[in-house]
Amino acid sequence: MSLSTKRMLVPILTIAVSVTHLQQPAGDPLLAEWDTPYGVPPFDQIENEHYLPAFRTSMAEHQVEIQAIVEDPEPATFANTIEALERSGKALTRVSNVFFAVEGAHSNDTLRDIARTVAPELAAHNDDIALNRPLYDRVKAVYDQREELGLTPEQHKLLEETHKAFVRSGINLDEAAQARLREINGELAELSQRFGQNLLQETNDFELHVTDTADLGNLPANLVAAAQEEAARRGREGGWSFTLQRPSINPFLQYSPNRELRRQMFMGYAMRGDNDNEVDNKTILSRMAALRAERALLMGYETHAHFVLSDNMAETPARVYEFLDQIWVPALRVSQAERDALQQMMHDDGITGQLEGWDWRYYAEKVRKARYDLDEQELLPYFEVTAVRDGVFRVANRLFGLTFTEVTDLPRWHPDQEVFEVKEADGTHIGIMYMDFFTRESKQGGAWMNDLRAQSRLDGDVRPVVTTNFNFPPPAGDGPSLISFDDAQTLAHEFGHALHGLLSNVTYESLSGTNVPRDFVEFPSQIMENWMGEPEVMRTYAKHYQTGEVIPDELIEKLKAAGTFNQGFATVEYMAASYLDMAWHTLQEPVVPAPREFEDAEMERIGLIDAIIPRYRSTYFAHIFSGGYSAGYYSYIWAEVLDSDAFQAFKETSLFDQETARKYRELLSQGGSRPGMELYEEFRGRPPTIQPLLEKRGLTGVGM
Ligand SMILES: [Zn+2]
Repeated sequence: MSLSTKRMLVPILTIAVSVTHLQQPAGDPLLAEWDTPYGVPPFDQIENEHYLPAFRTSMAEHQVEIQAIVEDPEPATFANTIEALERSGKALTRVSNVFFAVEGAHSNDTLRDIARTVAPELAAHNDDIALNRPLYDRVKAVYDQREELGLTPEQHKLLEETHKAFVRSGINLDEAAQARLREINGELAELSQRFGQNLLQETNDFELHVTDTADLGNLPANLVAAAQEEAARRGREGGWSFTLQRPSINPFLQYSPNRELRRQMFMGYAMRGDNDNEVDNKTILSRMAALRAERALLMGYETHAHFVLSDNMAETPARVYEFLDQIWVPALRVSQAERDALQQMMHDDGITGQLEGWDWRYYAEKVRKARYDLDEQELLPYFEVTAVRDGVFRVANRLFGLTFTEVTDLPRWHPDQEVFEVKEADGTHIGIMYMDFFTRESKQGGAWMNDLRAQSRLDGDVRPVVTTNFNFPPPAGDGPSLISFDDAQTLAHEFGHALHGLLSNVTYESLSGTNVPRDFVEFPSQIMENWMGEPEVMRTYAKHYQTGEVIPDELIEKLKAAGTFNQGFATVEYMAASYLDMAWHTLQEPVVPAPREFEDAEMERIGLIDAIIPRYRSTYFAHIFSGGYSAGYYSYIWAEVLDSDAFQAFKETSLFDQETARKYRELLSQGGSRPGMELYEEFRGRPPTIQPLLEKRGLTGVGM
């Protein structure tokens, strides 16, 4: 969840298409000086039609800036080349930050059209800079003298990152290899589009239509109603329709007592893209793996995973495997015990034979109810969104002395947004944080954080402006917005990303805040979730919205007890997908393997049990074949090791231990200016250990 949009779309090297007619729209508020309080974007003055001209003008401006660097008659220096590059494209960054923040949180058809139009223009702009040979020659000249320049560690890091960005884009390849690289990139982009479209079609084509009430079992009323609406939408006369979307399939698998229907549903999901029809994804994905292997070889890496990981905290495939194996062994053991218990329950139900994939959720739900008696409805009144928000603020106040003061007169993109000035204990201004809690049609799903302005000190003290976005239920009628405990953790998670941006204290914007490797970025966010579940903290914010009664200990206990339930299964299905990702991306030759057999062999190798399939099978593994996570799906649990181990430092002292908090803030403040592992070891005094994660997930013992 939630990388900053800027980071993905406008990397260090943004830029440059030639723009022939430059029309500077009169008084475009995106390009003018922002004379708003704190210099926040003037959302109240920005209209849809301002964006595209602002993008094009600022791209052209960036191109001019780049050209000036290239044509500088002086020999290349750190200042006239590396810092000049860092300074270039500021207007484009500003326009992109605003546009992608608004397009994600409050979109419309016009903005979506602009996004589609501008994406290839931005990509071409980036490619043109990344493959600009004279520009690279200057960067390289500085890079080659890096040891003699007396650079600060942060400058050194900026130089390395800048140089690396060119190298990783293929600047050093000969002409023929660069041409082949462009072909590969083009084909990969096209295949990845087709993969996604096929998957969408396979997902949308499936329907399970149920006509007998008995087959619904104890499905909650709101889900029954949704299935009824779905049937009507599909032109059915009565009955209930279920689809392969997770909110539809998972409850059906949990509640339907009809084993044959569960099997149909499960297989419908598991075989997407693997039906040997015209939208089959097997040929596409194995071709993609081969192309990636070829590209890695071109770039001088052993495999695609070597290429990707060399720019991540994990560094090498060997380290990822070593890491995964440590969790896999205990997780597999726990999942076997879970399976045995579920299978016993199934046999008690009079069904003989093996527990299958389509049985797991059904019997797990029965066990959960019997064992923990946890009712979500009973918890809701204790998690009112404003109270949870204040609870999160209180955690940051006790850790770092920060205060949060609501500011009501700043421009915003939607009236639901709340805006806070964040200050030090002594009142010094730190930055501005927007919070946008409620779901609405114009907002994309999920929760995320982005920068509107990242912290830097290169040209004056630039203070951060960040946003956090959620999809919580809006207040209904006069009632408040009540959220689940999971939602409360999500609130803390995005707030953690926001703190990473707000507490940044570096010179260069490219290295500030959340501009860190993928397997590090979720650490500062996930760690905040830990405080929310601590009884001591929960009692400060989980209060009944009507009576003010503090959440009863009995409910806290139930929540805690249920927290490790079924974690063998959850861990194993996630990890099987992580291994599969690594297997596809450690191919050493650009050969196209037979996907089904390849996947089966890998699952056999790791010893996956029959009743569990990977969270994503190859043919619908969109993260790695149509998203940006190839050789990176392991990142979520990697970051969880860090956050569990880091939180342990607070558990060992106290939840708000000031010395530990000071050290943690020191880590946060350095953003991407130093390698993640170095920062981590400085904070913890040692490398991370895996034990706290195993304990948190209940993987240290055997049994459910
Ligand atoms: Zn996140």
